[in-house]
Amino acid sequence: MKYADISELNRVLLACNLCPRLRKFSEDVALNGRKFNQEYWGKPVPGFGDPRAKMMIVGLAPAAHGGNRTGRPFTGDETGKWVIGGLYELGLSNLREGVSRDDGLVLRGVFLTNAVSCAPPKNVVKTQEILNCSTHLRATIELLKDLKVILALGTVAFKSASLVLGVKETFGHLKVRFVNGIYLVGSYHPSPLNTRTGRLSWEEWLRVLRYAWKLAS
Ligand code: SF4
Repeated sequence: MKYADISELNRVLLACNLCPRLRKFSEDVALNGRKFNQEYWGKPVPGFGDPRAKMMIVGLAPAAHGGNRTGRPFTGDETGKWVIGGLYELGLSNLREGVSRDDGLVLRGVFLTNAVSCAPPKNVVKTQEILNCSTHLRATIELLKDLKVILALGTVAFKSASLVLGVKETFGHLKVRFVNGIYLVGSYHPSPLNTRTGRLSWEEWLRVLRYAWKLAS
């Protein structure tokens, strides 16, 4: 399906119910499983960023108490501190950290989204759910006319982006493929699992971001 702009895509996304398991989990967390004393978003989480983005960063899915709480990708959780903090270091974000949808975050040349737009239980998604939400990822890519780089964080994001770009590729850290005018770059996901164990250091993460941004510029 073709959309006129990101706003139109977001309207469809917000009403999406293609993955009942994920919708139920997102809503259950928002209604009955809150860890933060505030209203949770609990709906599909739309992408966010610069409509003239040259680089798109794709994560796995909103975290149950991160994006699913705040309603914006990489906002309000540990992974977000790395993603937005890293962009700040490169001069691509006006804030070091995203905390809420109304925090005034502005990204320059970058768009943030996820392979799957609804929070999954235990951060595990099924193949059919990746396929379902790849339609939204494809639509986002089509709307970002200046896009040159997709930085895919982890195996699920890489798999989904490969699928959308029409190539069969397995994930690799700093693996790069050039497909139809777009560089697909893989990186370890800056999740606490990877950052706290040392698989991905802050210096390496900045190196990944600088490399991807250089390809986009
Ligand atoms: S994960 Fe994507 S496809 Fe599935 S219900 Fe949420 S928005 Fe729809």
